[in-house]
Amino acid sequence: MKRVFILAFLFFFTFLNANALEELKNVGIAKYAVIEAKSDYSPIREAPDVHSKRFSHIRQGFVLYADKQNEDFYRVDLGLDKPYWIEKKYSDVQAIIPEKRIVEIDEIEFDEDKYGYEIFIPANIQNAYSFKEIPEGLLFSLYDVKVSDNLKIKDKRGAFNLIPSDKNILKIKYISPALFGYDVLPHKKGLVVRIKKIPKINRKKPLKGIKIAVDPGHGGIEDGVCANQLVEKDVNLKMSKQIKKALKKRGAKVYMTRKKDKYISLHKRVEFANKKEADILLSIHQNSLPDPKDVIYKHGAGTYYYHMQARPLAQNIQKEILNFSKFRDDGVNYASFALARPTSPVSVLVECGYLIDKNEAQKLNDKKFQKGFSQALAKGVENYLRYIVVY
Ligand SMILES: [Zn+2]
Repeated sequence: MKRVFILAFLFFFTFLNANALEELKNVGIAKYAVIEAKSDYSPIREAPDVHSKRFSHIRQGFVLYADKQNEDFYRVDLGLDKPYWIEKKYSDVQAIIPEKRIVEIDEIEFDEDKYGYEIFIPANIQNAYSFKEIPEGLLFSLYDVKVSDNLKIKDKRGAFNLIPSDKNILKIKYISPALFGYDVLPHKKGLVVRIKKIPKINRKKPLKGIKIAVDPGHGGIEDGVCANQLVEKDVNLKMSKQIKKALKKRGAKVYMTRKKDKYISLHKRVEFANKKEADILLSIHQNSLPDPKDVIYKHGAGTYYYHMQARPLAQNIQKEILNFSKFRDDGVNYASFALARPTSPVSVLVECGYLIDKNEAQKLNDKKFQKGFSQALAKGVENYLRYIVVY
């Protein structure tokens, strides 16, 4: 009996989805598919191409409206001048509807503790959103909503401005000379925008009380680079353990995404850092090249960031690790790495050196060198914290 029920249930949903897809093929602008994001930080892109620029990442269960599809993507209408796209593997089609369900926002509630601000936005649908780092601070946009003429703003704190919009968008600007992490948290009665404050830094011990997630890249079945008799996952773990020691000695609270030779997905690593409410996320790797013949031109240490808020951290780390290692400067670079993309911890990825370079490989595998490198990296993090407080 139970089984029949489950089968009927499954059939209903399969039918709904297939029907929805079929209908979508023929619909004009007037019909939308309601899509829920399938996993946390599902990417919304600027073009139907997995290599195209990411416009935003949304939390699981948050809602988008699609007006078209191709084989792998839904075209999403956020009410902006151009369409965006979400991959089907991140999409759950819920229904086909004639018009978007615009949510009326009639209340916004602010809250504050010593770590940051929270803006609670009551809403019966959790709609798609985006953050944009701007020179004055941060711009948060919530789509497919109508801001009520009688909007009640409760207990406003900090430097927040509501930006008027002639579209169905709620825009909130946060004014700050520097950013130290932000995210959206789902709430059973809407959503919460969380923006972290720049911490009060103990000048003698800047890392005191700062929470840092250290992520030794790869592990388990995933070796990473193999060169000069070394396997990247092992070097990453050894280096990360030294980094943990160096950071702890300077007063930080450190959380490792892995302590053993174990496979952990990129998604789980990010989830772990968020769960620990890390302020900073450091992903530790060793570099390689697709073409080993280029090694003479490409070697050295490099630090990578995705969001502008993490650039000063990357710069400070890079300066100190070069100082210590005397490696070639492989740059402070923008890159879309999964472990550089989180917004709540300020996140960077460090490529300590190139394992395919004999000289660098030898040093990177040396315990004394690992210790010195880690201390330099920790000093870089410390300098970053001193630097952001200057504002
Ligand atoms: Zn790697």
